[in-house]
Amino acid sequence: MEKMFAIFGNPVAHSKSPLMHNRFFKTFQIDGCYGRYLLEKGEELIGKFWELGLEGANVTVPFKEVATQQVDRLEGLGKEVGAINTLVREGKWVIGYNTDGPGFLEAVKGFQFQQALILGGGGTARAVAVALARNGAEVVVLNRSKGRLQFFRDKGIPCYSWEEFKLKREYQLVVNTTSAGLIDNSLPAPEGLLEEILEGARYGVDAIYGKVTPFLKLARRKGLETQDGREMLVYQGVLAMELFLDQFLPREEVAQLYREVLG
Ligand code: NDP
Repeated sequence: MEKMFAIFGNPVAHSKSPLMHNRFFKTFQIDGCYGRYLLEKGEELIGKFWELGLEGANVTVPFKEVATQQVDRLEGLGKEVGAINTLVREGKWVIGYNTDGPGFLEAVKGFQFQQALILGGGGTARAVAVALARNGAEVVVLNRSKGRLQFFRDKGIPCYSWEEFKLKREYQLVVNTTSAGLIDNSLPAPEGLLEEILEGARYGVDAIYGKVTPFLKLARRKGLETQDGREMLVYQGVLAMELFLDQFLPREEVAQLYREVLG
């Protein structure tokens, strides 16, 4: 019987997940179908999951946090981050996972770094910071305002607002997890400070994909190796598919397929 999957979000029309996962099903000859669902009310997520008869789903903006309250169990990073992007049916239970953090790790696995600076303090920053820290990196978080820093403090991850931050050492990896540059031309930190930070860095990675953001432009000007958010998107998808099918996949082969879909 055909297995059904979907992505829930609002907006959701722009999501590339259906294209990626349907191409996977076709290429690997799996009887599956992946759709998109515009969810109006976050609290209806799990009800819709069952109503649609899904085997698995992805969750995107703005429901990643509210989803954690509705699943029967949280696994892996989902528990620590307090946000999930993947739902998997296990019998009559729905299990929640976060593959954004592990997807990010896969995306930067070829980079050599020990110190990482995360720009931003939202859901993506949480997933990336916790994944990197669990993987043995020394992580510092720099966010525009103080409001979202308590999460990182509670995890023992040093974190600062722009006004508190002093550059005391070099960070080989600098990651933009803010939405600065997504629809405007802003930088994720004050320009002078960012220039100093990037001076000592080797890699500049943006979570935003499909465009060269002002952050990536500046990083390139400083001679850094750069990467946009496509690789993170690719690998969160590969890892979600492994969870959906409950099996290990030839990750690089699937990643290549997803890259082709994303262009
Ligand atoms: P959130 O809304 O949870 O967090 C946004 C963060 O960005 C906040 O910390 C906010 O700071 C900061 N911010 C917003 N605007 C600016 C600005 N102009 N200058 C400096 N800081 C700013 O967003 P998410 O974590 O959900 O998403 C962040 C980005 O990551 C999005 O662009 C999204 O597209 C991308 N993303 C990419 C993925 C991928 O697979 N490639 C996966 C998930 C997300 P403050 O606290 O001060 O408001």
